[in-house]
Amino acid sequence: MRISDCDFSLALSRQGSAAADTDLLTVVIPFLNEQEVLPICLSRLRPLLRGQGYPYEILFVDDGSTDDSVALLRTLATTDPSIRIVCLSRNFGKEAAMSAGLAHARGAVVVILDADLQDPPELIPSMVQAWKAGADVVCMRRRSRSGEGLVKRLSAYAYYRLLSRLSRSRIPSDTGDFRLMSRRAVDALLKLPERCRYMKGLYAWIGMPTTVIDYDRASRAAGKTKWTFLDLFGLAMEGMTSFSTAPLRWATAVGAVVALLGGGFGLAIVIKAFVSGDEAPGYPSLMAMMTLFSGIQLLTIGLLGEYLGKTYIESKQRPIYLVKEIIESTRPAVATQLGDE
Ligand code: UDP
Ligand code: MG
Repeated sequence: MRISDCDFSLALSRQGSAAADTDLLTVVIPFLNEQEVLPICLSRLRPLLRGQGYPYEILFVDDGSTDDSVALLRTLATTDPSIRIVCLSRNFGKEAAMSAGLAHARGAVVVILDADLQDPPELIPSMVQAWKAGADVVCMRRRSRSGEGLVKRLSAYAYYRLLSRLSRSRIPSDTGDFRLMSRRAVDALLKLPERCRYMKGLYAWIGMPTTVIDYDRASRAAGKTKWTFLDLFGLAMEGMTSFSTAPLRWATAVGAVVALLGGGFGLAIVIKAFVSGDEAPGYPSLMAMMTLFSGIQLLTIGLLGEYLGKTYIESKQRPIYLVKEIIESTRPAVATQLGDE
C-alpha cells in the first residue's frame, strides 16, 4: 500500500491528465460521507466490471468525508489493486471532486458514477458499446426520477429547459453527471482552466460526438442526499451565470422598458396637472413606483454581483482542489483482469 501522505499537490486542471492506458476503463466515483452505501456500490460494481473482460480501475474521490468511508475503502484497497482513492484535503464540492477524478483517471475511457447507486452500474456495458461505436461522450438522460419529491422534479424540469435556452452550447435536458467520456473528451475537459466548474456546462461546451441513452433513475440505495435546497439554488445560479451573459441583457432590457413606462407615467401626470390644474395626487402611486424600481435595481445589482464575484474568484487563480493523500495498492499497475484479487 502506497500512501503519499499530505501530498498537497497543486491539482490544477491545466496540469493535464494522468497518462492514459490504451485499454483501461476508469470508473470515477466522487463521494462525501457514504459509508452506508459504498459496500453496496462495490458489491454491485465489481462483479459487473470483472464480467466484462476488459481491464478496469475504480477511482474513488473522497470529497472531505468525516465518517468511516475512507477507512473502509482503505482496507478494501489493500486486497484489491483495482481500487484507488484520491482524498481531497477538505470538502470542495462534487464538481471539484469530479475534476479531481478526471485528472487522476488513467483509463482510455472514463465513466462517472454517483456512489449512491442512483445511476445503475449495470448500464456501463451499453455505454462502453456506444463508445466503441464511435461516441466520445455517452450522456445518460433520466427518463424518470424515483425517490425525488414533486418540487425537486418540477424545478429540475423548469431549470434544464431555461438553461438550454440561455446558453449557446446545448446543455441536454435531464442529463446529470452520469456519463462516459473518451480520453479525448477527458483531456479536452481538463484543458478548461476555470475555477467555477459547472460541469454540466463544461461537458456541453467541449461538444464532440455524443450519444444519449435514456435510463430510469433509481432511488438512493442508502444514506441521505448531500444537497440542500440552498446548494441546488447555488448550483443553478452558477450554471446560469457561468454559461450565459443573457441575464445581463435581460436586465438591460427590463431596465429600458421600466424607464420608458416611468417616463411616460411622469409625463402624463405633468400634462394632467396643466390641463385640469389639479395637483398630482401622489403618495400611493409614488410608493408603488419606488418599490418597483428599487426592486428591479437591487435585482440587477445582484445579477451584476454574481458575474463580478465569478471574475473575482477566477482572478485569484487558486487550484480547484487540493489532494491530501492517494491510496493505492503497490501491486502491479492498475489492476484488473478477471478475478485478480
Ligand atoms: N458528493 C460529493 N461532494 C459533495 C456532495 C455530494 O462528492 O459535496 C457526492 C455524493 O457522495 C454522491 C454524489 O456526489 O456520490 C451525488 O450526491 P447526492 O446523491 O447527495 O445528490 P443527489 O443525487 O441527491 O442529487
Ligand atoms: Mg444521489
